[in-house]
Amino acid sequence: MFVDRALITVRAGDGGDGCVSFYRGKAMPKGGPDGGNGGKGGDVVFFADTGLNTLYDFRGLRDWKAQSGEPGRGKQQYGAAAADLVIKVPPGTMVFDDATGELIHDMKPGERTVIARGGRGGYGNEHFKSSTHQTPREFTPGEKGEFFRLRLELKLIADVGLVGKPNAGKSTLLKSLTRADPKIGNYPFTTLGPQLGIAEVDASRRLVLADLPGLIEGAATGAGLGLEFLRHIERTRVIVHLLDAVPDGETTPAENYRMIRRELEAHSAALAAKPELVVLNKLDLLDEQEQADAIAALKRELPPDVDVMGISGAARVGLGELLARLWKLAYGDETPSGWPEANAATGLRR
Ligand code: GDP
Ligand code: MG
Repeated sequence: MFVDRALITVRAGDGGDGCVSFYRGKAMPKGGPDGGNGGKGGDVVFFADTGLNTLYDFRGLRDWKAQSGEPGRGKQQYGAAAADLVIKVPPGTMVFDDATGELIHDMKPGERTVIARGGRGGYGNEHFKSSTHQTPREFTPGEKGEFFRLRLELKLIADVGLVGKPNAGKSTLLKSLTRADPKIGNYPFTTLGPQLGIAEVDASRRLVLADLPGLIEGAATGAGLGLEFLRHIERTRVIVHLLDAVPDGETTPAENYRMIRRELEAHSAALAAKPELVVLNKLDLLDEQEQADAIAALKRELPPDVDVMGISGAARVGLGELLARLWKLAYGDETPSGWPEANAATGLRR
C-alpha cells in the first residue's frame, strides 16, 4: 500500500546535567571541584534514502526520540554525547511543522539534515571555579532537546507524469517502457498509488516516469482517488496525457482529453502550464487508415499548439519516438553530465 502522508513527533535528546563533585583523596581531604560537564543530546537527523519511495514505514511508528546525553561525573569526567537518531525517508519528503504549517525542509535525494537539535550538556561545578570562587556548588542542567510535531508529505520526484482516465493504458505503458511492474487490469483504479519506473532513452539518458492513478471527473474537487495523487505531478517536468484510441462508452479521445485537462486546470495553474505530450494509445486496435484518421480527428479538436502522437503501449510501437520527445520536452537538447536529479530519486536504478 502506498502511504504518502504521516504525522509523527520527534524529540531530540536532552543534554546531560553538569555534575557537582569535589575531589577527595588521602593527601587532599578537601580537594577542589571536579564535577564534569554533561554530554550533548542526540540530534534527530533525516536521511533521504534513495531506496525508499513511500512513507509506509511510519505507520505505527509515531514517536521518535533520540537518546539523552550522559550526565557529567566526578573526577572531571565529561558525560558522553548521545548518538544521533537517523530517520530514513524517501527523497521528495516535505517536512512540515504541524503546529505552524511551516515547511521545515524538502528532502533532496541522498541528503542528511538535522531536524531537531539535541540539547547541550550542562556545566559541572568545575567549570565555575576561579581564584575567588574555589568551592563552587553550582552546575547547570542539560538543555532540553528540541521537540516537533511533524507532518510529512511525500511528493515524488519524477521527470514525467503519466495522466489519463482509468484504462487508458498507463500501467501497461510504464511496464513496456521500464522495469517497473505495475498492476494491470481492465478495471478502474488498479493502480492505487503512484508507481515509478526508469526508462532508458539511450545508453546515457534515463527518464523517471510516474504512473498516477486514473483521474476521474471531479478529481480536483475531491472525488475519486485522483486528487490525492495530483500533487505528485506538481514536481514532474512533463506530463504525458494518455488517451485510449478506442474508449469505452460514448466518449471520444478528444472529450476525454478535455475532461482531464479540466481536472488539471482546476487543481493548479502551474500544473496545467507544464509541457504536455498528448499520446493516443492502443493504436494496435486500429488498421493503418483508422490510425491516421484517429490522429487527424484528435488534432482537429485540440488547440493547434498541442503536440500529439500515436503509440501502442502493449505492442510497444512508437515507444522510441515517445521517449525521445519526452526527453526533449524535459531537458531540451541538454546532454546530462551524470543522471538528472530524478534519477537519483528512486531505488529502481539498474
Ligand atoms: P491504466 O488504468 O491507465 O493503468 O490502464 P492499464 O494499463 O491497466 O490498461 C487497461 C486495459 O487496457 C488493460 O486491459 C490493458 O491490457 C489494455 N491496454 C493497455 N494498453 C494497450 C494497448 O496498447 N493496446 C491494447 N489493445 N490494449 C491495451
Ligand atoms: Mg493503472
